[in-house]
Amino acid sequence: MSVPDLSTIAVHAGRPERSPDAPLNAPIVPASSFVAGGPMEYARDAAPTTEALEALIGALEGGHATCFASGMAAANAVMDLVPPGGTVVAPNEAYTGVAVRLRELRDAGRIGLRTVDVADAAAIARACDGAALLWLESPTNPLMDVADLPRAIADAHASGARVVVDSTFATPVLQRPLSDGADLVLHSVTKALAGHSDLLGGAVVAADPVLAEEVRGRRVFLGGAPSAFDCYLAMRGIRTLALRVERAQASAQVLAARLAAHPAVQRVRYPGWGTMLAIELADVAACDALASRVRTWTHATSLGGVESLLERRRRWAKEAPSVPEALMRLSVGIEHVEDLWRDLEQALAP
Ligand SMILES: *Cc1c(COP(=O)(O)O)cnc(C)c1O
Repeated sequence: MSVPDLSTIAVHAGRPERSPDAPLNAPIVPASSFVAGGPMEYARDAAPTTEALEALIGALEGGHATCFASGMAAANAVMDLVPPGGTVVAPNEAYTGVAVRLRELRDAGRIGLRTVDVADAAAIARACDGAALLWLESPTNPLMDVADLPRAIADAHASGARVVVDSTFATPVLQRPLSDGADLVLHSVTKALAGHSDLLGGAVVAADPVLAEEVRGRRVFLGGAPSAFDCYLAMRGIRTLALRVERAQASAQVLAARLAAHPAVQRVRYPGWGTMLAIELADVAACDALASRVRTWTHATSLGGVESLLERRRRWAKEAPSVPEALMRLSVGIEHVEDLWRDLEQALAP
């Protein structure tokens, strides 16, 4: 049998075995402890609803998934795998929480840290010399830089470094880093995977089952296990992942082209694919005006939901200073593209 399309996997994976009267959906099992003698035992180690979500995300990425209570819990589990004193190579601008945490670990003497332009493959290869872990994010948040994943991963492996790819912006619909050779894929399930801005979740998917067990150990001992209810909601969201991403991507392409021709927009950052884009306006006041005048878009942080969101990233004190002050990040949802455009047009009008 040929391998099903991603959209089919998103609908079918992680469901209970088919037998008479079996429920179509994995049940929510609210239990912290299980009767001794089986493989579950305790919900920080394993739990039925979590395992169903892990089967689904693992199938989407083509590996073995461990789910977490948030993307940051997942990120911290990966950071904890770095041996003491090991060097991490990370993007110059990455998701703020990840960048902050890597600097904290460096300042505490726990890791070494080198940062690189993810779009510069030669710089990545040089930086990986002697490193323990290459931390890629592609496209990057919020500058939308794209890495040459197969090349960066091969160069890192040649230096003996492990590779994790934060693929939150791309989703498995648009990018599957394990098939490009990555050791680990990281997701903020909070974002496009769950897709409805109603939960926090994270996932780490490993190509190698032994490495997956190491990741699982980090959840067991760092404690970032997700709730059964959130796992259920995430699965419900993922069922429509391909539809949502295809629709939002089609709209993002239209909006990127129209915004590039708009007189109030100085620069559009859009790699040509995906559901996220960034625009640069004249100044912070223009950004604040846009944020306060939108009616269909919402001024809010986060991304990947059915509803379109925008925000000025530098309003966060810990955002990288190399991110332009007047940069607005736009997360395109599944509303009609003409409604989204009309709203931006009226909000950007002089
Ligand atoms: C949001 C985000 C995270 C962190 O995920 P949380 O679920 O908010 O903890 C990590 N990486 C990227 C790219 C993100 O957008």
